[in-house]
Amino acid sequence: MRSLASLPIAGQPVPGAASAGPGAGSEAAAAGARQASAVGSTLDLDERIRELKRERNAVILAHFYQESEIQELADFIGDSLQLSREAQRTNADVILFAGVHFMAETAKILNPTRTVLVPDMNAGCSLADGCPADKFAAWRAQHPGAVAISYINCTAEVKALSDIICTSSNAVRVVQSVPAHQKILFAPDRNLGRYVMKQTGRHMELWPGGCIVHETFSQRKLIALRHQHPAAKLVAHPECEEPLLDMADYIGSTNALLNFVVNDNAQAFIVATEPGILHEMRKRAPHKQLIAAPPEANCACNECPFMRLNTLEKVCHALERMEPRLEMSDALREAARLPLERMLALSP
Ligand code: SF4
Repeated sequence: MRSLASLPIAGQPVPGAASAGPGAGSEAAAAGARQASAVGSTLDLDERIRELKRERNAVILAHFYQESEIQELADFIGDSLQLSREAQRTNADVILFAGVHFMAETAKILNPTRTVLVPDMNAGCSLADGCPADKFAAWRAQHPGAVAISYINCTAEVKALSDIICTSSNAVRVVQSVPAHQKILFAPDRNLGRYVMKQTGRHMELWPGGCIVHETFSQRKLIALRHQHPAAKLVAHPECEEPLLDMADYIGSTNALLNFVVNDNAQAFIVATEPGILHEMRKRAPHKQLIAAPPEANCACNECPFMRLNTLEKVCHALERMEPRLEMSDALREAARLPLERMLALSP
């Protein structure tokens, strides 16, 4: 159990905080901090977050790749598609999005009247960062008449320039929805794009982007690991590179991997995706052996450095101060909404 002495006292809402703007939120936070230090509070951080959630009428949406302690406090955990749906349907006044920036943008696009808080604005994504809107627009211009499908891991600007969005859960279905005679551009993940081409038999022009986490797994170490655990099944996310996917017993979105591990008869699995998912896998399949696929280097580079920027302390501070907030122009939001809604309409 951790404590945070600088936080406001339990049960004492910060005056005016629920509807306050960024400046007022800072004042409220400062007032709260003064109250706390006055009594030398050792208030438990988890409890403080729960309290703030109630005060703000806030919901915490957390991605499976978040630290387990954030997942435990979340009202909903899921992959990109699940979180998009949850963000769209929530009635809470405030969405605290524990994930990365493009996910919080998606929440704002789909539910614009809510305040969307982001624990750390620097939580980006190598796929989104590697596909700037101006270069994407130039790429589209080189292929007139083509349908542009963008993986949800892209900025709102790129979404606005796309015809339809997909996630790893529904990419095959989205591609199959495009008439056979139409050329398709797929951005920004080349590995997911290649995988979908194999599944659908459709050729697509691929943006040359990749996830720094899913491209880090070592095929050499995986082969050794499979020799050590011959009964273990290898499950992999389609953001992994093709040689690894060719080795996999099962390929699917993060949530699909979770369901496979829970429901399959095998008792051991090597999991080739961000190891944050192991927390929920262990909860739902406590008797199974779960082994994180190893990166090539002796590092923790199979952990997403962007996702891991979020901490409980930052979650707490964001709810206290009601910032950082995800803001977006109405024009951008509207332009990005249609391609997202096309995806959701295709996703049962
Ligand atoms: S794991 Fe990869 S795709 Fe997911 S947020 Fe991190 S960098 Fe982006």
